[in-house]
Amino acid sequence: MFMIPKDARITLDPEEIPKQWYNLAADLPDLKPPLNPATGKPATAEDFATIFCKPIIEQEASTKRFIDIPEEVRDNLIFLNRPAPMQRAYHLEKFLKTPAKIYFKREDMSPLGSHKGNTALAQAYYNAEAGIHMLTTETGAGQWGTALSMVSNLFDIDTTVFMVKGSYNQKPFRRTLMEMYGAKCYASPSEYTDFGKRILKEHPDTTGSLGIAISEACEMAAKDEHTCYALGSVMNHVMLHQTTIGLESMLQMEKADITPDYMIACAGGGSNFAGFTFPMMYEKIRGKSECQIIAAEPKASPSLTEGEFKYDFGDTAGMTPMIMMYTLGHDFIPKSIHAGGLRYHGMSPLVSAAYDQGLMTAKSYDQPDTFHAGVTFARTEGIVPAPESCHAIKAAIDTALECKARNEEKTIVFCLSGHGFLDLYGYQQYMDGTLPSSSIDE
Ligand SMILES: *Cc1c(COP(=O)(O)O)cnc(C)c1O
Repeated sequence: MFMIPKDARITLDPEEIPKQWYNLAADLPDLKPPLNPATGKPATAEDFATIFCKPIIEQEASTKRFIDIPEEVRDNLIFLNRPAPMQRAYHLEKFLKTPAKIYFKREDMSPLGSHKGNTALAQAYYNAEAGIHMLTTETGAGQWGTALSMVSNLFDIDTTVFMVKGSYNQKPFRRTLMEMYGAKCYASPSEYTDFGKRILKEHPDTTGSLGIAISEACEMAAKDEHTCYALGSVMNHVMLHQTTIGLESMLQMEKADITPDYMIACAGGGSNFAGFTFPMMYEKIRGKSECQIIAAEPKASPSLTEGEFKYDFGDTAGMTPMIMMYTLGHDFIPKSIHAGGLRYHGMSPLVSAAYDQGLMTAKSYDQPDTFHAGVTFARTEGIVPAPESCHAIKAAIDTALECKARNEEKTIVFCLSGHGFLDLYGYQQYMDGTLPSSSIDE
């Protein structure tokens, strides 16, 4: 008789959704505050108040270690298919002939397609609590825009999404999804903001970037006192909300007796990486784990592996406060890649500080190699991963092959940040052999 192994799929009950988020800011020494570029002094709550509501501003600056998750957010996480399962990639292990064990956390099971709903829910909730019923935002590949568009409905919020033009043209069904959920979706740079118009005039053929889309969304929010801005990654409060992923994972690993030697996630602005790994970093900081934590980023915008740790703007126009992060420069426009969610010039300040303090390492990968990993994963595990998630899979496969070369039975756990059903155009290019390299050196 075929026995399903105990660790094939590790599930949790709805009551086991965490009751509190974990805040790494409580445990990182020497965190540098955001600066007001005009004064060079630490940014004040007023500096943020033109675009963010009060509860979000407070959370952004909080150094409290554990922060309660509001009941209404917890309840709604169930409809995003939380707690998300953790699964063992038996077929992939067998295909690779590796002695390593490979597990993955399934953020692809959210009806919204990625991990983005975890923070979208929290942000929509806090804005509605503060009486804000209009939000603007940016989106790269469309995952964040999709998530915010949907959860906005639960809190009676109208959402406007500036979508990076390259993705807008490459992934038209993402726009359909956002419009189905009731949001307005504009290709960025757009004619709807002064900054968009300026960029269009200077670079009429630009494919846009996350930095430009952020500037447009901020401009629109700043001009209307009833409108706030929501960001899908990078900021501390977003990292905080995403720790639901890692806290669930820690509990699952405890229940199934899994001690990871490696934890791996892709990193664009850093939110799924942070959410997945920060609870483990807390263990490392307390000397309770030796787990190696690896961020996988694209060669097209390798902020950790090739960027500089310095103060820079979060957006292209220079409208945000200056933040201390690994950055390629706020005017750096990454090559257009299918992993649009990773096309960001900087990195979350918390992830950047963790990297600077040696709590983690990073690797960068070229686009065709990541798609190769994604197709291998689809053929063995049956799941079509998001092009962003393919970076984590590539890093996990490489690590498993290193274990094979050294004949080591290590345990690898990675985060599958989303599914790739709306990215089949990229996969078709890969299958046809026409998928271009994404390295900034070429
Ligand atoms: C947005 C996104 C990412 C990258 O953003 P992070 O903030 O770095 O997590 C990765 N994977 C998927 C599926 C995404 O939608």
